[in-house]
Amino acid sequence: MIPIAKPLLGAEEQAAVLHVLNSGMLAQGQKVAEFEQAFAQFIGVRHAIATSNGTTALHAAVLAHGIGPGDEVITTPFTFIATANAIKMAGATPVFVDIDEDTFNLNASLIEAAITSKTKAILPVHLFGLPAEMDKLQSIARKHNIVIIEDAAQAHGAEFQGKKVGSFATGCFSFYPTKNMTTGEGGMITTNDNQLAERLRKIINHGSTQKYVHDSVGYNYRMTDIAAAIGIEQLKKLESFNQKRRANVRYLHQKLASIPGIIFPSLTEGHVFHQYTIRVTPKFRVSRDIFLKSLVEKGIGCSIFYPIPIHKQKAYVPYGSSTYPVAERMAQEVLSLPIHPTVSETDLDTIAAAIRGLA
Ligand SMILES: *Cc1c(COP(=O)(O)O)cnc(C)c1O
Repeated sequence: MIPIAKPLLGAEEQAAVLHVLNSGMLAQGQKVAEFEQAFAQFIGVRHAIATSNGTTALHAAVLAHGIGPGDEVITTPFTFIATANAIKMAGATPVFVDIDEDTFNLNASLIEAAITSKTKAILPVHLFGLPAEMDKLQSIARKHNIVIIEDAAQAHGAEFQGKKVGSFATGCFSFYPTKNMTTGEGGMITTNDNQLAERLRKIINHGSTQKYVHDSVGYNYRMTDIAAAIGIEQLKKLESFNQKRRANVRYLHQKLASIPGIIFPSLTEGHVFHQYTIRVTPKFRVSRDIFLKSLVEKGIGCSIFYPIPIHKQKAYVPYGSSTYPVAERMAQEVLSLPIHPTVSETDLDTIAAAIRGLA
């Protein structure tokens, strides 16, 4: 079986974890600070705050911007549930805006129509590793005096116009094992804003900046030093992981060129291909679901991200008063193929042959 995702861990991570275990400093030690510094430098921001996972990173970011009950946050209905959950966890209201079928990201031209006096933020997702159109989003945000929180959980190292995602606004990352780099469970928030960074550090640590002094109610959203030690080693390898992802995509593109009825993602500069997501349109010879079943039968772990848009999920039905036709159509057409760094050329040959066999 060629899995859809697989973490790539080596002797470096093993040694780093052992070092932490032997030190006895499993939490609130030096490794978290070291990982935060390295990550901030990599993204090109002043501050990086490590968290327990990507969901808590997003939740803390929404809270740190003072967003809560009565406030609206514009986001995409075509993402992992955590994006919308973070808005709800803060007591705010998600307002969905449809996506662009060429990028699977928020359609910037539809955002202004969704802005009201209650809108406090735009929460774009750099879905599948492709940056959202940050220039357009930033000009909308500036015009309406609202903030941007980037969900970069799938886009470590991705660049838009030569700048890393997570450096445009408040960036939120996840280090879950399926992501481009991992710490097991883990997350990171990036910002250039000193005061925001201070608020974030309080929120993730029981409202405390000084031991046993609590200025506000907060959470325990801290990362462990075991996770941070893994993260430090993974970060060193991230660029090579992302290069391998792009090389795998190039290879598949050469093998498949063009197939009527299938739309391949473009090899956009700065795209880090967290997922390689094709569209099996109704013009293709077989349905998307038969396509999927046939590849899985051949040992190719393809998967559908995401089969149900958020506004169709039970918990979000009250927020989905409108329809989002593109998101709904994409949910019917998308299919992601394994291209992660442990996928070999032989694997890619198998994948290409399986797809050719269906065409
Ligand atoms: C993975 C992911 C998250 C949540 O991260 P966790 O570390 O799993 O909590 C949030 N948003 C998106 C788009 C993700 O892919």
